[in-house]
Amino acid sequence: MSQWPEWLPLSDRLRPLSPYGAPQLPADAVLNTNENPFPLSDALASAIASRIESVARNLNRYPDRDANALRSDLAAFINSQSECDFSLDNIWAANGSNEIIQSLFLAFGEKGAIGFTPSYSMHPLIARVTNSPWSDGRRREDFSLDISIAREDIAKSGAALTFITTPNNPTGSSVTIAEIEELAGIVPGLLVVDEAYAEFSDELSAVTLIRKYPNVVVIRTMSKAFSFAGVRLGYLVADASVISALFIVRLPYHLSAITQAAAEVALEYRDELLGNVATLVSHREWVKNELEELGLVVVPSKANFLLFSGFDIPAPTLWKSLLDAGVLIRDVGLSGYLRVTIGSEAENKLFISALKKILSTSK
Ligand SMILES: *Cc1c(COP(=O)(O)O)cnc(C)c1O
Repeated sequence: MSQWPEWLPLSDRLRPLSPYGAPQLPADAVLNTNENPFPLSDALASAIASRIESVARNLNRYPDRDANALRSDLAAFINSQSECDFSLDNIWAANGSNEIIQSLFLAFGEKGAIGFTPSYSMHPLIARVTNSPWSDGRRREDFSLDISIAREDIAKSGAALTFITTPNNPTGSSVTIAEIEELAGIVPGLLVVDEAYAEFSDELSAVTLIRKYPNVVVIRTMSKAFSFAGVRLGYLVADASVISALFIVRLPYHLSAITQAAAEVALEYRDELLGNVATLVSHREWVKNELEELGLVVVPSKANFLLFSGFDIPAPTLWKSLLDAGVLIRDVGLSGYLRVTIGSEAENKLFISALKKILSTSK
């Protein structure tokens, strides 16, 4: 809302803000929020339903406040993926990684945070909401991260939280584990590595650095590769002292019994759920080639989306024309760029054919 009523005692820092709002519009191809396009199998859907049915009998009681069973399962999952030895004391779980980010700011945000723009827009937004000072660090023209410039920006900011998103949203670009290790050794506080898209990337996860650098904390989510965005389950892997600090700021019973149960079943079906990652990666390469055939420029991506440019109509105009053709993608507010999520084969084809038509008639 641009004009708040005079009498409303909304904090000054929040008055200029607008809520996070990726459009939720009906479309034939929904390619705007980096969800996984593959629905759950019937077997998994009924496994979740029957687990929830058994939990439902106890919904008169509060859930396990510490989500111990789920946190143990998440530790086992990370250990199996990255050959680590974490226990539940190294895991925090919450309603989406956005809640994780908010808790990090509540616990550690007082001395400020830095991130490298363009990156995930919720990092600075949650900083503002929690009254934490935020600095924008610099990227190269091609959106890659120059580690020596990053080091300068981090030192200048003195921030307690340094955010690195890899693969980065909205660009898809990633940094190497060696670069993350270099930053881990020099940040003044915590190095927060947002790995929402890690499963799509062939880079080693930053969880492998935590034992050597206890100031590295890694955010993961079940919303993207795991095909589980509707459940809202994000988690954090970190030194046990970081997790203990998050217990201070969490709301009691924040993770419902239903969420915990559904996420536990999803972890049991991890092979099935993650089975589509390779397919999505190969579709990503197909879409990238098609875009390049159309003369467009695509930022190299290790995630399940592509940021592209090189069209000569304004991005909001192209975005609208695609929507009119039934294809919803994302205008991330970067002039001359649009972002498209990799969908099912049919959705990707619809996107490419609609784009072809629009670009040929706009010449
Ligand atoms: C999608 C996304 C998230 C948020 O995920 P939820 O777990 O659904 O809250 C976090 N970080 C980045 C970089 C994302 O793109």
